[in-house]
Amino acid sequence: MSNLRVTIWHEYRHEKHDERVASVYPEGIHGALAKGLAPCGFDIRTATLDEPEHGLTQEVLDNTDVLTWWGHMAHHEVSDEIVDRVQDRVLNGMGLIVLHSGHLSKIFRRLMGTGCMLKWREADEKERIWVVDPSHPICDGLPEYIELEAAEMYGEHFDIPPPDTLVFISWFEGGEVFRSGCCYQRGQGKIFYFRPGHETYPIFHMPIIHQVIANGINWAAPVSNPPMVRGNIPEFMS
Ligand code: ZN
Repeated sequence: MSNLRVTIWHEYRHEKHDERVASVYPEGIHGALAKGLAPCGFDIRTATLDEPEHGLTQEVLDNTDVLTWWGHMAHHEVSDEIVDRVQDRVLNGMGLIVLHSGHLSKIFRRLMGTGCMLKWREADEKERIWVVDPSHPICDGLPEYIELEAAEMYGEHFDIPPPDTLVFISWFEGGEVFRSGCCYQRGQGKIFYFRPGHETYPIFHMPIIHQVIANGINWAAPVSNPPMVRGNIPEFMS
């Protein structure tokens, strides 16, 4: 079997304008993820907002099994044409992993059909990401919980449709909780939302976070069905 083809999409703006973020992610969040996922045996490429067509040409998407998405300050700059293109690929089987502030991306909101807003606070709080579906492939090899010493808080209510499968719930020391690992199926595609990963914390350098994302990629990978036949079928099938 050939390697899964993974495209890591990153907005890549904070690193260019904020020294604090650049010091945490000198090669960009996409660079950190590409490095962290490299041992997993994927064929990895990266794509960023400021490239032509945001780096997501039809050819790139047609050759992507799973796309990961991190955006924050420039969701509105993602063109609707590219959002249409990504949505079409997801509905036809491409996996999508939406990370952290990608909850407000056009593509995630489109696929969810809800506002996708939440509570947030930047106060260096401890987070425990509890596994609540231990037999799920995304939880393979994980301990009972993942602890982050300092994180941005995301709290309920998170305005998403009820997940098809909820795999993680986060607890924060300030008292809030959050559905931090949410799985969906849309058309033939699978979507995994995973909460951690604010730009000022080195969370995307953590091997256990790479493990969760790699598990998510393997779970969201397309199955090898033939293209679905839809529309009018003029003859009986016998
Ligand atoms: Zn954030």
